[in-house]
Amino acid sequence: MGRIKAEYIWIDGHKPTAKLRSKTKIFDGPVNSISDLPIWGFDGSSTMQADGNDSDCELMPVYFAPDPIRGGDNILVMCEVNNADGTPHKTNTRAQLRKVHEKYKDQEAWFGIEQEYTFFQGRNPLGWPEGGYPAPQGPFYCGVGADEVYGREIVEEHMEACMKAGLMMSGINAEVMPGQWEFQVGPLGPLDVSDELWIARWLLYRIGEDFGVNATLHPKPVKGDWNGAGAHTNFSTRAMREDGGIKVIEDACEKLKKTHKRHMGIYGAHNEERLTGLHETCSIHEFRYGVSDRGASIRIPMATANDGKGYLEDRRPSANMDPYQVCTAMVATICGDSDSTVEDEPEMVSELVS
Ligand code: ADP
Ligand code: MN
Ligand code: MN
Ligand code: MN
Repeated sequence: MGRIKAEYIWIDGHKPTAKLRSKTKIFDGPVNSISDLPIWGFDGSSTMQADGNDSDCELMPVYFAPDPIRGGDNILVMCEVNNADGTPHKTNTRAQLRKVHEKYKDQEAWFGIEQEYTFFQGRNPLGWPEGGYPAPQGPFYCGVGADEVYGREIVEEHMEACMKAGLMMSGINAEVMPGQWEFQVGPLGPLDVSDELWIARWLLYRIGEDFGVNATLHPKPVKGDWNGAGAHTNFSTRAMREDGGIKVIEDACEKLKKTHKRHMGIYGAHNEERLTGLHETCSIHEFRYGVSDRGASIRIPMATANDGKGYLEDRRPSANMDPYQVCTAMVATICGDSDSTVEDEPEMVSELVS
């Protein structure tokens, strides 16, 4: 027994890209299951989720993890936002994913998400000369040395924190643009990968505070001849992972081709600045898939082609995407039969998306 601090984390109504919010609740612990966690509330008029005259929104805990920063029995709590009557708020994109996941859960979809991000200190990417540019891209990707990578101490602390929180991290690497990094979460089911990705993002921002450094998920943080930041989304179903799965993967690519435009509508704001056809991307106006092709919309990894089974990589989502929406779209399109795609899930594309 003893009083604990629970950091309630939720997603706000900011447009075009929602932001994370959180506040602390203190009560008697320890917490052993999600049902031990009280429902809470907040002032939606300050988060673009309500009008001032009727501003109560509800926080419904859906996932919790040990708090690696505060330690002890303290926890981080991911919440869905509900209206005062307990129905899902229109910004609650997780509620949609719950439904689509339930419908197709027998197909055992797994996701692994590569989260790219860029550190900034003031107005400059971390390590860049004030008002100027570093040497052109080339040596920085997976680099080592004080002249090549910037912010490794933050990256290490973040990775350690995510692991202490029990998140299913699968790795980190320095990216092509100096000051840019990536971490990966998964493979996990759609709800888990999304909840864990949001918690990992929260930890990245929170740990950045201690260094006076902020991480941005903007898909094109520096204009010009510099790589953008994406959130490649790796996907498989049980049938794809079993012998003969390559055929199922190719069918999935054909379904994704049909729904390209619809998916692009929810794959993150300002993504057109990143998907130019240069810098290891396919143009936003085209759809292509191919083995080992980092200039395609969908890449089939070499090992998958060789084994005849495995997974596909959707390279289109931008770093600032909402994993609840991206996972909803992919499950609906790929797990549905070829005429029942994401187009038939009208509820999926909430107002938030436009
Ligand atoms: P890349 O070569 O594109 O940089 P990464 O190693 O960064 O790839 O990320 C690959 C991601 O794919 C990891 O998150 C990993 O967990 C995930 N992954 C591996 N196998 C599967 C699978 N069968 N289904 C879904 N995701 C997978
Ligand atoms: Mn990667
Ligand atoms: Mn990358
Ligand atoms: Mn990738």
